[in-house]
Order: sequence, then structure tokens, then C-alpha cells
Amino acid sequence: MISPINGYEFKNWGETLQFKPRHYFKPSSEDEIQQIVQFAKEKQLTIRVVGSGHSWTNLCEAENQILITLENYQGLIHIDKEKKQATVKSGTKLYALSELLEKNGLAMINMGDINKQAIAGALSTGTHGTGINYGIIPTQVVALSFINANGEKIECSSEHNTHIFKAAQVSLGSLGIITSITLQCVDAYNLHIQKKKETLSGIIPRLDKINQENRNFEFYWFPYTDIIQAKYSNQTQEKPNTSGFKKWFFDVFLENNLFKVISDISRTIPASAATMSKICGMAISDSSEINVSHRIFATERLVKFTEMEYGVPAEKGVECLLRIKDFIAREKINVHFPIEFRWVRGDDIYLSPAYGYDTVFISCHMYLGMPYEKYFRGAEKIFLSYEGRPHWGKMHTQKADYLKTKYPKWDDFLKVREQMDPNGLFLNQHLKEIFGLV
Ligand SMILES: Cc1cc2nc3c(=O)[nH]c(=O)nc-3n(C[C@H](O)[C@H](O)[C@H](O)COP(=O)(O)OP(=O)(O)OC[C@H]3O[C@@H](n4cnc5c(N)ncnc54)[C@H](O)[C@@H]3O)c2cc1C
Repeated sequence: MISPINGYEFKNWGETLQFKPRHYFKPSSEDEIQQIVQFAKEKQLTIRVVGSGHSWTNLCEAENQILITLENYQGLIHIDKEKKQATVKSGTKLYALSELLEKNGLAMINMGDINKQAIAGALSTGTHGTGINYGIIPTQVVALSFINANGEKIECSSEHNTHIFKAAQVSLGSLGIITSITLQCVDAYNLHIQKKKETLSGIIPRLDKINQENRNFEFYWFPYTDIIQAKYSNQTQEKPNTSGFKKWFFDVFLENNLFKVISDISRTIPASAATMSKICGMAISDSSEINVSHRIFATERLVKFTEMEYGVPAEKGVECLLRIKDFIAREKINVHFPIEFRWVRGDDIYLSPAYGYDTVFISCHMYLGMPYEKYFRGAEKIFLSYEGRPHWGKMHTQKADYLKTKYPKWDDFLKVREQMDPNGLFLNQHLKEIFGLV
């Protein structure tokens, strides 16, 4: 039997969740994962799995229960070069996955802002990037397997056990422990990213055209200004033109350190936040870089923050953002972090925030240690008035009463959950509230 590690204390990246599990396990095989399920049942304990701890919500909370990390369960299981599909162990971190795919001439179709997550963690909360023609990361998955509460290995795919698959693609770790994931990839590609300082009022009338003409487009709007940083990424045959050091110095060291100084001033003197936002906006400069796709997608986030993100129907995105802009000005919210605005193609995954329609994701950030409650409460009220669906891994206050009205396949998901875990082996308080099981 695999031995537990006792005395471990968990803290997530965003420092919103801290707890001590009774037992902490680091399995390195499916067999060990099945042993832990058996052990939990014998001891009448519940299990939560953690990926990289990059969610802000209490999804991974397992106070005095069992917490499992799959950091010793990473790597390639199988690659099908003809189909361009890669099957990996579920604990594989996105940075390792990207390198592994690149070595095999492949790449993920799309990615989010960072690459620190475990692939199963990114999948389980519906992590996404931007691009009107690209779905959330779980849409890149064609098959997966997991160990359910009975200790059985369940295999499902877009062709086999489809009903379970549609539930498992975004499942908040509530159906069982995902062990393997098969991704539909594409040939490795380079991206040319152009970052430009523009204005919100100037870009709004051009958004549809921009989305038609660019592979991945997003922008950051700086509160108390009309300034945005627009990011246009397109596939190119040209070779990478950045040296590792130059990229690190300008994009990582300089950007993060300057922003940290500004953020510290804002935290010390909250009333300066509006000015700090204006300084950030003014300091933006245009830049251009060509690199391998995953190196363009992934950015280093060394300045910590708290985040709320909601998906709203794409055609309502701009109106929703403008209402948040008015709210910030009216309530004089002390915030200097920009709001991120991204597009995602609609899908058919039961708990996907993009279920059924193309979606715009709007993210509100607050520097770690600065009060975010008033800002997020006001923004959330606006998101809800646009049928908003919260990002499962980011701050939100929604529970079953609201959520069930926003997901047409809510009951179908709950049936699969009940079937896979009738006694709540994988539930904690947060999930019980989300699923209305309290
Ligand atoms: C700096 C930063 C940048 C971010 N950028 C983006 C972004 O660009 N786009 C975006 O959409 N999100 C983004 N996020 C949010 C992040 O992608 C999600 O919260 C993601 O779920 C975190 O992955 P993780 O591996 O850390 O998972 P965790 O937070 O550790 O866990 C998330 C969920 O996955 C479950 N889980 C993990 N592994 C398994 C498994 N093997 N089996 C079953 N369940 C499992 C957990 O139980 C939990 O329910 C960002 C977060 C941070 C901190």
C-alpha cells in the first residue's frame, strides 16, 4: 500500500485557500490511485485531487481528509502521429506537455495565459485561451479515463460512453480521479504576436473584423483610462526572432518588476490606484515577437493577484465591459490591474461556461492583499445581468440555485456524478453547495 505523507499544509497560488489534509498522497501509478480510493473508503474519508493549485475557489479543499497530487504521475503514454493525438498522464504540467509535443512535431491547438497547470486541472475547470474560432481547452480532448468512487477505471471518448465524456470534460474533479487524457493536437506552429497600445473607444467598432482577421485576439483595458493593450497573434512560417534572455529580461523581469513596484504603491496608498492604472496605460509600448506557439501563449505571472472571471454571450461582451467601466468610475473602486477581454467558441460540454454559444470572458483582477470584495461584488452583479457563467476556478459566489438555470445540461451532469460517486467520496463543502447537495 502506498504510504501517505502526514503533516502537509496546502496553500493555493492565489493564497485564498489554506488547509491541512489528514493524509497527502503522491501516487505514481493507476494501481496506487485505486489503492487510495480503497483506503479512503475503509477510513470513511473523502478525497480531493490537486493539479497545480492555480484555482482561487475552494475546489481542492480537503481539511482533515485526503488530498492527492499527481505530480509523480506525469508524461507521455502514447502518441499517434497519423491522427496527431497524444495520450498523457493526467498530472502532466502544461509546460512539460508543450515541450513533449514540440519534440514530436505537434502542439496544442490553443492555450491560456500560463502553462503551470496540470492538464487534468486545466480541463476540470474549463480553462481557456482566446480566439473566436477556438473552444476552451477541454474541447481539445478526444478521450479520457478516470477512477470512479468504486475504484473502477472508466474510459470515455467522443465516440464511446459519450454521455459520461460530455460530463467528464469539465467536471471539477467530482466524477473521480482522471488518470489519462488524449488530446487532439495540430502540427507544431509558430506564432507572430503583436502587442499594440490602442484605445477602447477606437477598437470597439472594429472588433468583429479584427476577430475575423486574427487567429487569437484579446485586449487588456486599464481602469480610469481609454487605453488598452491589444494582442494580435497569427500563425507564421517565419522563424523565432527572440532570444531566451531578451524575452526573459523584457517580458518577465522588467514587466513584472515594474508592475510590482506600481502595485506596491497602489496597495500602500489605495487612493493612488487610479493614477497607477493611468501610469501603467501610458507606459505600454508596442512590441512584436515570433516564437513557437506555446512560448507565445505562456506568460510569467510573478505579481500575485485575486481574480474573478465570467463568460457572457459574445454579442453582450462589450456592453457588459462598459457597464463595469462605469461601475468602477461611479464607485471609485481602487483598482489598477487591467481587465482582460477574450473570446471563445461555443461548445457542447455539459458544464462548460461556453456551452451553447460563442462566449466572451471578462476577467477582473485585484493585487494580492488589496480588498477585492466591493469590486467583485459589483462586477458579479453586472455579469449576472448578462446571463454570466463563472469560471469554475476563479472567485465567484454562485451556488446551485443560480447555476442550474444557466446550464441546460445541469441535470444530465448531476446524474452522471451520482452514478460515478453515489456516496460523495469526491465531494467537499464547496462542491456540495455548487451541486445543491447540502
Ligand atoms: C496566474 C494564473 C493565470 C491563469 N490563467 C488562466 C487563463 O488564461 N485561462 C483560464 O481559463 N484560466 C486561467 N487560470 C485559472 C486556471 O487555469 C484554473 O484554475 C485551473 O483549473 C488550474 O489548474 P491546476 O492544475 O492548478 O488545477 P487545481 O487548481 O489544482 O484544481 C482545479 C480542479 O481540477 C481538479 N483536478 C486536478 N487534477 C485532477 C485529476 N487528476 N482528476 C480529477 N480532478 C482533478 C481539482 O480537484 C479541482 O477541482 C489562471 C490561474 C492563475 C493562478
